[in-house]
Order: sequence, then structure tokens, then C-alpha cells
Amino acid sequence: MLDTLNLDTIDPNSRLPENEPMRQFVFMAKCREILREKEQRLGRPLKASLQAFGCQMSANDVQTLTGIAKQIGFEEADSEEADLVLYNTCTVRENANERIYGRLGHLHSLKKKNPDMVIAISGCMMQEETEIETIKKVYPFVDLVFGTHNVYKFAELLYTVWTTGKMVVDVWKDSPLIVENLPVQRKYPFKTGVNISFGCDNFCTYCIVPYVRGREKSRTPESILEEIRRHADSGAVEIMLLGQNVNSYGKGLETPCSFPELLRRVEEIDGIERIRFMTSHPKDLSDELIQVMKESDKIARHLHLPMQSGSTEILKKMNRRYTKEQYLELAGKVRREIPDMAITTDIIVGFPGETEEDFEDTMDVVRQVRFEGAFTFIYSRRTGTPAAKWEQVPQQVIQPRFDRLLKEVQTIAAEKCALGTGKVEKVLVESLDSHDEKMLSGRLSNNMMVHFPGPSCLIGQMVPVHITEAHGFYYIGEMWKGR
Ligand code: SAH
Ligand code: SF4
Repeated sequence: MLDTLNLDTIDPNSRLPENEPMRQFVFMAKCREILREKEQRLGRPLKASLQAFGCQMSANDVQTLTGIAKQIGFEEADSEEADLVLYNTCTVRENANERIYGRLGHLHSLKKKNPDMVIAISGCMMQEETEIETIKKVYPFVDLVFGTHNVYKFAELLYTVWTTGKMVVDVWKDSPLIVENLPVQRKYPFKTGVNISFGCDNFCTYCIVPYVRGREKSRTPESILEEIRRHADSGAVEIMLLGQNVNSYGKGLETPCSFPELLRRVEEIDGIERIRFMTSHPKDLSDELIQVMKESDKIARHLHLPMQSGSTEILKKMNRRYTKEQYLELAGKVRREIPDMAITTDIIVGFPGETEEDFEDTMDVVRQVRFEGAFTFIYSRRTGTPAAKWEQVPQQVIQPRFDRLLKEVQTIAAEKCALGTGKVEKVLVESLDSHDEKMLSGRLSNNMMVHFPGPSCLIGQMVPVHITEAHGFYYIGEMWKGR
């Protein structure tokens, strides 16, 4: 991406521009000079391994960070034996943090073998002061720490690490700034995520996201559409519009634009064949949005609509601002208006104060809506959120509830999956099947995975597939030759 950026035209010693991203382009040029010196000294190319943990937004930030690293001149490493290792972290649940600390020990041993190695940690977990303190005290071999608001500054921060040799920590509490037009390295040439808004204003009482991602701010429709056009021009056929709550897109824009309006404009872009979006908050899902989805040939037949709990009492304590009945009504309306729309959800088990009766309400909604899929989570206590201070449900009560829910969700999902056989549907081919190289793997509009025999040249293309077997959470099929 960003075809126009040519670092060769930028003098690394020129005066630093005040505007971003121009300022960063000079830092990229400076870093490139240092990288070349290092390559000469070591007699080999420098390699980078940048990894995303957590949600699609984290993956998207890594696409930008990788784009910057590539401009600087790093080659992609196929392991962590690299000269730059970056973890873009998640902190939504406690175990996400534990995973990162578990891996840092290994990085330390690699760094002992390669003293030039730079270890960088970024993302949501770094927005928490206690985690920064832990890194400083327990993991002093980490070179760079930054957060979610200054991803665009990566080149500048790396330059500071390289020129000072000290640990650099740069984490901002929040920022009104949105820096556009940074280099982006797409993971797949045929599909990508596009941020439409950042942050969240909803403050669900269990959730740390509003604290680590800051206040909600929307990109202008013009910059979003321009980015999507560039992706389409360079071969993307599917895009996923990303925001913590896409349905409230547009708040605070100088020229108002709602999410359904934005979708209509995205649909007009030639080359884009499939449009996904995530995440829809039930409280803001409008009739207009249902109408736009219904009328569209491009919008995927998949709506992720996190319910979190089926109990009105718990939903109130969660600050979700809808009731059990309102959720059921909304899901029912979507099913009536768009019968082939897959509805998936997120559910938390064991929120503080959850009684057996509350949990039965969750099971009831699961049975009534009959989700095509659900992510189920055990409530994780996040310091700094209101619910962390409330009386917690004991683990031995939560686990059996969680197991029951998972079983129910999987049984229903498998039954729904079985209804798909016999149909012919368009599949976006994503890769070779990891178990059998003669097979391809791709996704249907409703997000279900399909494996079918075919040549690798079809990767990145939309092909019609006859679905022959259902296997609970994936299908087997064959290419449809229009018999
Ligand atoms: N903005 C999205 C969700 C972002 S977090 C939304 O509102 O739907 C993704 C999911 O993680 C949430 O939907 C929720 O189910 C889960 N989650 C968030 N905080 C959690 C916590 N403290 N414990 C367990 N699950 C949590
Ligand atoms: Fe978290 Fe709620 Fe915001 Fe989603 S809407 S990110 S769950 S606070």
C-alpha cells in the first residue's frame, strides 16, 4: 500500500516536518540508513517478526507496523530468531497478559545470542500502568514499549532505541489525533480490515477497552473510502470495517455520516465484492442498517451481535443498555427480514452477581435465537473496571455453567451448519487446506469455512462451490461447474 511513498526521495538529514505522517517518513529514512549500516556490519539482511494478539483491530495495527518495518528495510522473519520482535498485545482478559509474559522469557534467551535484537511490546496491555511497571522491573531487556494511540510513531521510537541504546517507553492516555496514509502491509492480498472508528464510549462495566483504547472517534468517510479504493486497486475483494461499535459510527464528524450511509458508499466501490463489519452493539442497531444489509449483494450474510448475557438484571449491571426482550426482538427482526443471515454472538459466563436463574436466561436466549456460532468467555476480572470491585462468582460455580453453555452453543451451531448442505454458494478462497494440500480452504458469505479440491491458483478468488457435507463447524464441497 501507499504506492506514493518513496523513501529514496527523502533526505534522512532533512529538517523534521511538523505534520504527520511526513515527520515519520523522515524517521523511516533515518532508520533505513541505520539498518543498512547494521546489515553491512553483520553481513546479512535484518529480519523482523511482528505478531498480533487479540482482536481484528490489533491485527490491523500490525499491518501498519509491518508496513513501516518494511519501508525501513526489514525482511520478514519466519521465526522469532529475528532482529526485531514485536508483540502487539491484548488485555481484554487476564490470560491474554499471562501469555505475553510467558513468551518474554524465551525472547530473552534469543536476545542473549543476538545482542542487536530489538524487543518491542505495544498495544492494549501497554496502556496499563501496572503492566509497564512489571516490564521495567521484571523484563528490563525489553527495548521499546508503546501503546494504542501512537502506532504511527513506530519509526521514530525505533530510531530512539537504536540511537540511545536505552529502553524507550512512550504510552499516551488518549489522543484526538488520527494519522492517515501510513504504509500498510496486508497479510492477505485479497482481504483486509479497515478501521472506521477507534476507541469506545460505552463503558460496559466488565470491559477494559474504553480505558486502553480511549474515547470513540470516527475517521472521515472520505479517508475510509479512499483507503478502500486503494485496497481494491491493489487486488482486495473483501474488506472488514472495524470499530468497537460500528453502529455508532459518525458521532462527532464535522459532516455527519451514519454507518448505514457509509455502507452504501462502500458498496459503490468497484472491485470490492464482499463487505464485513465488526462489532455491532445491539443498542445501536437501526432498522435502516437492517434495510441496507437486506438490499445489498455485497454485504456478507453474517452479523456478529454480542449479547453478553440473556438476563435483563445482569445486562443492566453490565451497562449494556438493552433487555433480554429487546435483544430477542432485534435478533428476531434480523431473522425475519434476512432469513439467510448468520447471527453469531459473544457471551460472558460468571459476571459478578450472576445467579442460576440469570444463567438460565442466557441459555434461553441461546435456544431461542439459535446462533450460528458463539464465542463464550468466562468473566475475567479487569482491575480499574467497576465490576472488578463487586462480589465475584466462585470459579467452581462458573465452570459447570460454562461447560453447559458451550455444549448447547456447539450443538445448535452444528444443527444450523447441517442446513447448509446441498446449496451452491460463493466462496472466497483463502489458502491451501492445512491438512491436505490438494484441498483449498475458503469462506462463505456467512463466514463458515469450506474445504474443497482445487488448484492453488484460485487463492484470492471468489468461486462457486457446491456444499456436500457438513461437519459441525465447517463444510466439505466441490467446485460448481454449473451442471
Ligand atoms: N466492542 C465489542 C467487544 C470487544 S471485546 C462489543 O461490544 O461487542 C470482545 C469480547 O470480549 C466482548 O464481546 C466480551 O464478550 C468479551 N469480554 C470483554 N471483557 C471481558 C471480561 N472482562 N471478561 C470476559 N470476557 C470479556
Ligand atoms: Fe467493551 Fe462494551 Fe465498548 Fe464493547 S461496547 S468495547 S464490550 S465497553
